[in-house]
Amino acid sequence: MKSLAQLEYLHDHPYSYAKLGASLSTPVMPEPLTHPYLIHINQSLAKRLGVDLLNTEQELLTSLLAGSEVLPNWQPLAMKYTGHQFGQYNPDLGDGRGLLLAEFIAPNSADLDSKKWDFHLKGSGQTPYSRNGDGRAVIRSTVREYLISAAMQGLRIPTTQALAMLGSTTLVQREETECAATLLRVAPSHIRFGHFEYLFYSGQDQQLKLLAEHVMHWHMPEIDLNAPDKYEQFFAQVVSRTANTIAQWHAYGFCHGVMNTDNMSILGLTFDYGPFAFLDTYQPNYICNHSDYSGRYAFDEQPGIGQWNLSALGYALSKLIDTDAIETALHRYSSIVQSEYRRLMRARFGLISEQDGDPELINECLFLMEKLELDYHYTLRCLSEIDCRNWHSDLAHDINNAEFSEWLTRYQARLSVDYIHDHDNKDKQRQQAMQAVNPKYLLRTHLAQEAITLVENGQYDVIEQWLKVLENPFIAHDCPPHWSQPPSNEQKGHCLSCSS
Ligand code: AMP
Ligand code: MG
Repeated sequence: MKSLAQLEYLHDHPYSYAKLGASLSTPVMPEPLTHPYLIHINQSLAKRLGVDLLNTEQELLTSLLAGSEVLPNWQPLAMKYTGHQFGQYNPDLGDGRGLLLAEFIAPNSADLDSKKWDFHLKGSGQTPYSRNGDGRAVIRSTVREYLISAAMQGLRIPTTQALAMLGSTTLVQREETECAATLLRVAPSHIRFGHFEYLFYSGQDQQLKLLAEHVMHWHMPEIDLNAPDKYEQFFAQVVSRTANTIAQWHAYGFCHGVMNTDNMSILGLTFDYGPFAFLDTYQPNYICNHSDYSGRYAFDEQPGIGQWNLSALGYALSKLIDTDAIETALHRYSSIVQSEYRRLMRARFGLISEQDGDPELINECLFLMEKLELDYHYTLRCLSEIDCRNWHSDLAHDINNAEFSEWLTRYQARLSVDYIHDHDNKDKQRQQAMQAVNPKYLLRTHLAQEAITLVENGQYDVIEQWLKVLENPFIAHDCPPHWSQPPSNEQKGHCLSCSS
């Protein structure tokens, strides 16, 4: 474990982000917030990284998150990028309300996916890329990002993470006047597809190569930087990581809400949380972002949008990679999404051997969930908790639908292929295997809202309680019983704006 001051910072490293040159970033100091107070520090994440925040003075952390102090080896930068927003190219993007504070080597890097990590302060004030924005984040959106980062990590879906969160009395105007907050985000990299689009559309060919090499150096060590096809390999990696993450969103009912290319991580991390939601009722055309009038980013559009975004990235790399190689890599995308999605769904349904008719059996259940307006995760969790012999007295009774009962009979028959002998033991094995991949708890929209209200009323303990639950959402926790329940009709289908 190392303290913040002892960490190995990379500002002087030849492969640091700052060394990529002035066109990719502008040095900016955070703007201090008034009357700052720490809301939470994610000590378990700090421990995972090997960063000692237990012995860090609260006063120092408060100053760092409030933007009134920066450590000597920090070099706060606003990153420049562009991107396609709702399909339209916007050249005027960049870190408008966040700063890359520092890049560092995580002391526990042997146990992590990445050696290098970034500290990024979200809500740190205006930058040259703020356009008309105030550079701030509010408590509401900060609490949501804080919790969802832990939730995604707990579901083992690649994500940026949140190390600490702070509130203040600085007022900001949204639909209502709200208090400003900051979030200390950590991730192996904050580089987006939009970084590459920026360099391509502004004709900075040399920088484009250097940026790809920066990513390969830190995050794709298997690629030889002397290999003639290194950029092809790089793009193939991005395709594969993106495909895997989007397949996981699809299997776990996660809607990102704003899949603009500036919100797509080059490492395939779930990134820039705005109006995200998990599906409650299984509704494939669900739109979680009420500014998304056409449903471009509806839940079931996400895999296709992933491909669209990768095509935009491929185009931005077209000076480095020949068109055929880009097409070949893009071609693999759908099959990676499909096979990863199928693998996860088979696990969620407890299927071991591969049998004819398995995909249809799963799809029929999803179809019935949609038709009967069943809760996606709750239904799957019920299937994983219930004793195989009692289905017809319990679950079928609750759902009370002839088609669903008929499906259950077929499902039960299908399970008996994998779990035929020694019923009691086998069914326990099935239950355990299914419960290990079907979360009992989810950060549902109405539950996140409930947590926000508590935090706004000064009850910060709720964050620690939620983090414990979300860290392992597959096992039972001592927490309010309604946290594992689907929402009531009034609580359902909350739509969120981007205004955060
Ligand atoms: P987002 O929709 O959050 O991905 O943001 C799109 C762009 O708007 C990015 O360049 C952000 O940095 C910028 N932005 C979003 N909110 C603000 C804000 N309150 N102040 C300044 N810039 C912002
Ligand atoms: Mg963004």
